[in-house]
Amino acid sequence: MYRHLWSNGPKEALEFAEYTFDEHFGRPISSYPPRAVLWDYINGRAEKSGVKQFVRFSTIVRWVDFDESSQKFTLTVEDLKSGTTETSEFDQVIVGSGHFSFPNVPDFEGIETFPGQLLHAHDFRGAEGLADKDVLLIGASYSAEDIGVQTFKMGARSVTMSYRSAPMGFDWPEGMEELPLVERFEGSTAHFSNGESRRFDAVVLCTGYLHHYPFLPSHLALSSPNNLYPDTLYRGVVSEANNKLFYLGSQDQWFTFNMFDAQAW
Ligand SMILES: Cc1cc2nc3c(=O)[nH]c(=O)nc-3n(C[C@H](O)[C@H](O)[C@H](O)COP(=O)(O)OP(=O)(O)OC[C@H]3O[C@@H](n4cnc5c(N)ncnc54)[C@H](O)[C@@H]3O)c2cc1C
Repeated sequence: MYRHLWSNGPKEALEFAEYTFDEHFGRPISSYPPRAVLWDYINGRAEKSGVKQFVRFSTIVRWVDFDESSQKFTLTVEDLKSGTTETSEFDQVIVGSGHFSFPNVPDFEGIETFPGQLLHAHDFRGAEGLADKDVLLIGASYSAEDIGVQTFKMGARSVTMSYRSAPMGFDWPEGMEELPLVERFEGSTAHFSNGESRRFDAVVLCTGYLHHYPFLPSHLALSSPNNLYPDTLYRGVVSEANNKLFYLGSQDQWFTFNMFDAQAW
């Protein structure tokens, strides 16, 4: 995630039940911590519980198969440091690979003629390079809001956010605006569905993420839009395709720390 990312939920609503912010930091801290502070807190809990000794870091799951006769999963994993691949058997599998990492990239007519910088929010690391530029963000949710405001604070000449269904509708400062969806690009010019057009130096696609489980056969892989109750998951956790397979954190998310804990319990 990017350099200047702050929590968009207050820490009081994120606190782990058995490991408080006060315990970790030894003093009160502000409600909306930056990412490094939250990482420190999460890591502190992991250190205290001793769970890290059970985690195999730098190891990627390449494939998961289920054998109906033995009722076991076979996992093929690759140790990224040694380059070795091995397989092991498990009785149950919990998928916790996240669903904010595989970008959803819609097509726009003429986008290939746009000569400026074009990236997805997934690849955004900081707004320094967008200073003095006219920036278009396509999308009207958290990523567009956060990257848009940050880009404007850090010196963009103008920030335009383009929405598909409804504007966010905040009281934007002068220099920031919302327009309906882009219909097509013609070089640096974007034409919007209300007939207006603007010239841009950079475009950031804030168009969300897809559920993507390349390590699972398709009948076990969750297929869902980003919503609060993905279909085919009993109680939002147990796969209906195989009740030895679980998904943690596959919902659209708020106050995730305690939500994931509740799912684990
Ligand atoms: C820009 C942004 C801002 C956000 N802000 C907030 C916020 O303020 N508050 C909040 O509560 N939530 C926020 N979220 C949501 C937050 O990202 C999620 O709640 C949280 O990170 C999800 O945790 P997770 O463990 O499910 O997935 P992730 O954090 O994505 O972790 C998944 C892990 O699985 C690993 N992995 C993936 N595939 C494999 C594989 N095949 N083999 C082995 N390992 C694998 C990945 O490397 C990763 O380490 C934000 C998300 C984004 C994108």
